[in-house]
Amino acid sequence: MADTLMNKTSDYYIELEERFGAHNYHPLDVVIERGEGVWLTDVEGRRYLDCLSAYSAVNQGHCHPRIRQALVNQASRLSLVSRAFRNDQLGRLYARLHELTGYDRVLPMNSGAEAVETAVKAARKWGYQVKGIAPDRAEIIVCRDNFHGRTTTVISFSTEEAYRRDFGPFTPGFKIIPYGKADALEAAITPETAAVLLEPIQGEAGVIVPPDGYLRSVRDICTRHNVLMMADEIQTGLGRTGRLFACDHEEVRPDVMIIGKALSGGFYPISAVLSDDAVLGLFRPGDHGSTFGGNPLAAVVACEALDVLIEEGMIENAARLGEYFQERLAEINSPHIREVRGKGLLIGVVLKHDAGGARRFCEALRDRGILCKETRKHVIRLAPPLVITREEIDWVVTQLAEVLQMP
Ligand SMILES: *Cc1c(COP(=O)(O)O)cnc(C)c1O
Repeated sequence: MADTLMNKTSDYYIELEERFGAHNYHPLDVVIERGEGVWLTDVEGRRYLDCLSAYSAVNQGHCHPRIRQALVNQASRLSLVSRAFRNDQLGRLYARLHELTGYDRVLPMNSGAEAVETAVKAARKWGYQVKGIAPDRAEIIVCRDNFHGRTTTVISFSTEEAYRRDFGPFTPGFKIIPYGKADALEAAITPETAAVLLEPIQGEAGVIVPPDGYLRSVRDICTRHNVLMMADEIQTGLGRTGRLFACDHEEVRPDVMIIGKALSGGFYPISAVLSDDAVLGLFRPGDHGSTFGGNPLAAVVACEALDVLIEEGMIENAARLGEYFQERLAEINSPHIREVRGKGLLIGVVLKHDAGGARRFCEALRDRGILCKETRKHVIRLAPPLVITREEIDWVVTQLAEVLQMP
């Protein structure tokens, strides 16, 4: 490979990735080297407005100066000691999360999938120790078309064939029901049900918003049957839908809250499980752990990422501009659009099945300076950083309207 070239082109980096990387993604061919706020710059100096936000991990905007400074300061003091010793930053994050969410306890991990695994373990432990389910009989109810991550246990309860093919045998103990139907949940509950795990909006499934009142009903059913309600708000949480949590839209408080992605401010992976004493209070030393979970660098970044989100009004901006964005998108006159749906700045433009798939429109948008990614086959997901402005939304809508005129 021509390693001596001074200014390497996108093709060079693409070639390098294709040659030496596992091909477990199908990215748009754009090679980004810088980011600031909603804007990304590729290696040829072209600018793009980011409408994906790293699947909502960058709600605060790229390279937010306050989070970056917090990271740099902490990186020169202390990065990791493991949980074998205590550090002076983790308690501060716990207290901040408690103050913000009201949950008694926090269990910090790194990736979203790990936090989901942690919640599964917590629910099972609660099922045995509190609910009195017979050993190894605990069941967790999940929803069709869910996305909770990529580990072996988590794909065990996926309904997406591509996520599962050739990865069995799978972890037992999960029951799958349709999403958005409270009756189906009630019918599926048995005395061995420990928990239901769901996304308040199914992001990866194509921004599926359940019927109004669904989360409220799930909450009531769980309470009535002594079943834990566990919300995966890794994508929908931390301001994305215009409230701190998507469950807040229905004033619903899950027993277990799973967060990740934007907790990192896009800088340093961190996820967490939140709950009251009744669940996380059951963990004892040795039950669970992670070498990097709860490290001081992650704790500092997460604290600052939360502060920035709140102090800079990003959640309100997501509510206000999310509504505006959806209104403007609904005005687009294109034969390809079937529906525009979403909440706050988590929006899906659903295309008709004869539109030829969302990918070609995403590629056309890239050529016009907007980055978004098809979700499933027929949905263009629009989820820009929460710092986007009205003028930037207007520009995105104009470009999208033009692209959607393609035959
Ligand atoms: C992204 C995501 C996950 C997995 O998070 P990772 O950090 O990629 O492991 C889990 N649940 C939801 C809803 C997600 O959007």
